[in-house]
Amino acid sequence: MGSVTGSLDRAGCEWLQYDYGSALMAGTRPASFTMWRYRKLLPVPDGPVRYPMPIGGTPLLSVPALRKASGTPHLWIKDETRNPSASNKDRATALVIEDGLRRGVGTITTASTGNAAVATAVGAAAAGMRAVIFVSTDCQPDKLALMTQARAWVFRVPAGYAAAVDLSRAAARAFGWLDRNTGANPFTIEAKKTVAFEVWEQLGRRLPDAMIVPVGDGPTLVALDKGFAELVSCGLATRQPRLIGVQAESCQPLVRAWSGVPAGPADLNPAGTAADGIAVVRPAIGDAVLDAVRRSGGSLLAVTESALLSAVATLAGRAGVGAEPAGAAALAGLECAVERGLVDRLETTVLLVTGREVKAGGAPPGAGRVAVAQGLDEVERALAGEC
Ligand SMILES: *Cc1c(COP(=O)(O)O)cnc(C)c1O
Repeated sequence: MGSVTGSLDRAGCEWLQYDYGSALMAGTRPASFTMWRYRKLLPVPDGPVRYPMPIGGTPLLSVPALRKASGTPHLWIKDETRNPSASNKDRATALVIEDGLRRGVGTITTASTGNAAVATAVGAAAAGMRAVIFVSTDCQPDKLALMTQARAWVFRVPAGYAAAVDLSRAAARAFGWLDRNTGANPFTIEAKKTVAFEVWEQLGRRLPDAMIVPVGDGPTLVALDKGFAELVSCGLATRQPRLIGVQAESCQPLVRAWSGVPAGPADLNPAGTAADGIAVVRPAIGDAVLDAVRRSGGSLLAVTESALLSAVATLAGRAGVGAEPAGAAALAGLECAVERGLVDRLETTVLLVTGREVKAGGAPPGAGRVAVAQGLDEVERALAGEC
């Protein structure tokens, strides 16, 4: 800081004064820190990036008050809530849309429990693309409003999320749309692996001992495994961090599979948790999650609703981070991981905070439309009436 040399009274408002000179101004603006920084390890050809919003480059927070309160002096938070639509889904969306912009594809589709759909609607709006989203009928109204405000077409699928995925994928094949479905399009994992590169860079080109991550369909965790493995392949690291996946107690198919007692459909209640982002009955790439966790020497664990809600409060109260329950799951899992000896309190541990609660605000619904669809013909008919 230049030293404050006095103050002026300007119409009753106090203005601090400095010893003015050009040396006080910031130097040349640095190149921005976004996920495109790693484009040599992404399927992005040369030439300018067309995607119009800044993606990634999210902060790695040293959380001093949370470290003190939880007795974990080397804890970090990778804050993915800072992406444009407030979740890590923005990375995958950006890479899929970047590919579509280069190939001249005008429509993108996805099914989603909520956040991938919001990210897709917002990203498509900014890129000038049409988004056609498939959600289950219990999708949060606020998330639905955000999608229509971004002019997306939204189809509610009565048979639930798995049926929404099937319909979105069938529409992509039938109509030649971009398929952003998580786990189906390999670009979703490519984009999300950049979190591993950022954490490594932000820790001073070092890897943490462990990383704790919420798990729904699986790409977030599997992508971290791929990113860390690529750092080893590039000769920049010698070992990978342990990956610890967290699910909600009421819907924990992968924790059950990990423990060797697979869950039956009756054991899984996605509506029983406030963590909608990880309430997935049939994880798209569950086997890849189990494999990545095993190879990393990590584990999978389930947390209660009260632990999830208390983690939301602790993130707000001790770290200044606003998170939705799925976004706070890694913190909810930390205590449990320490108790079970999966993580030592003195280790360097990174919690991935994946998303923040989003509100549509008071704006009226946008130009997008909401319809119910059970099959492709209903989708085709609805879109044919579009003006
Ligand atoms: C999607 C999502 C997850 C889970 O990510 P997967 O890649 O599906 O395992 C976790 N938290 C939030 C906030 C999400 O939106």
